[in-house]
Amino acid sequence: MSGFATRALHSPWKLQDPHGTLRPPLYDSVAFEFQTSRELELAFTGRKPAHTYSRITNPTVEVLEDRIRNLANASAVLAVSSGMAAISNTVQALAQSGSNIVTTRHLFSHSLSLFTQTLGRWGLETRFADMTSLESAESQIDNNTALVFLEIISNPQLEVAEIEKICALAAGKNVPVVLDGTLTTPYLFNSRLAGVAVEIISSTKHISGGATAVGGLIIDNGVFDWRKHAVLGNIAGKFGPGAFSVRLRKDVYRNNGACLSAHNAWLQILGLETLKLRIDKSCSNALQIAGYLKKHPKVLDVNYPGLPGSPWHEIAKKQFNNGFGGIVTFELSDKEQAYRFMDSLKIIRRATNLSDNKTLVIHPASTIFAEYSLEERKSMGIPEGLIRLSVGIEDVEDLVEDINQGLESL
Ligand code: PLP
Repeated sequence: MSGFATRALHSPWKLQDPHGTLRPPLYDSVAFEFQTSRELELAFTGRKPAHTYSRITNPTVEVLEDRIRNLANASAVLAVSSGMAAISNTVQALAQSGSNIVTTRHLFSHSLSLFTQTLGRWGLETRFADMTSLESAESQIDNNTALVFLEIISNPQLEVAEIEKICALAAGKNVPVVLDGTLTTPYLFNSRLAGVAVEIISSTKHISGGATAVGGLIIDNGVFDWRKHAVLGNIAGKFGPGAFSVRLRKDVYRNNGACLSAHNAWLQILGLETLKLRIDKSCSNALQIAGYLKKHPKVLDVNYPGLPGSPWHEIAKKQFNNGFGGIVTFELSDKEQAYRFMDSLKIIRRATNLSDNKTLVIHPASTIFAEYSLEERKSMGIPEGLIRLSVGIEDVEDLVEDINQGLESL
């Protein structure tokens, strides 16, 4: 099989184009026409593969899905309107009222709020474990556990759990692992090989390439045996390894309506072409910046799994293919210092979002985690002086100089 970068550029698409276009065409149409009523019936009822309506499928979105499937070596991929739509659709496909999900408090705050608030009101129980401890994860799983959910590198704590071990533990209890692989993508981590049942990705981040379009991906790795699953067990006899994707496409996704627009899919196909180059540069910049911060006397602590002193370094080295990701967090003494540092930056932008081409800085406690109390933030590992950098692809000397003048100004 060709390498990742080659496949990202050259994977063919199914449709024949009359002009031989080199770039996948943008089919920005809601509906598709048929020559006869019979053909429309066959397509509508799924007996003949064809696009009918873009909330269900769309040719440009399908090119993105096929490319990701090829790059991840997965069984099936569904592209949706955002990373949050990928998570909510996946959980709704796997769980039902009375189910529980086992996760960690070290999650993107909207994922946490989706589980505990939005889906909690529909009868989903959320249980918390320390995902870096197998005993802790195991103690929370029971017969009503519909899934284990975790992030590949928790944000902003930058904790790295041993995914393969968690998957083996959960599979032994007939529970699938759903992994948020936004920060690694299939380039840095192949979730299928680790035994992850479903990987979700916010393609808004690395994949879109410069924050051009919001989007999400649900990657069904086809490795989980659904026959004894708490919710999908009753359809697994009919659909076998495809049970999750059938429930998702023909029920949850179709009825929720959070489809990806053809235009956003087209932008993301373009972003995907340079994914490897951009991730390589962002990881190498992040490693150098983390090393610089580690030595600075005004910095209390630095989190980056690429640093040999990080508690997650050995796991990350073993688990990831070509780097440790582009997120670095570090601690100053308090919120006031953090704000002074951030306000003095000249190149690095004060903005939310991750994995943009530009380096972005944010103060998590006053933004992403502002809806939680001081005590809750403490238990989540979000100190008031914490700063998060999403390292972009600029010349690293310029970034270090900007950070240096910011720290010197304190
Ligand atoms: N997962 C992670 C790790 C994220 O950081 C985010 C957003 O920042 C999401 C999911 C949600 O993605 P989106 O904003 O595309 O809905």
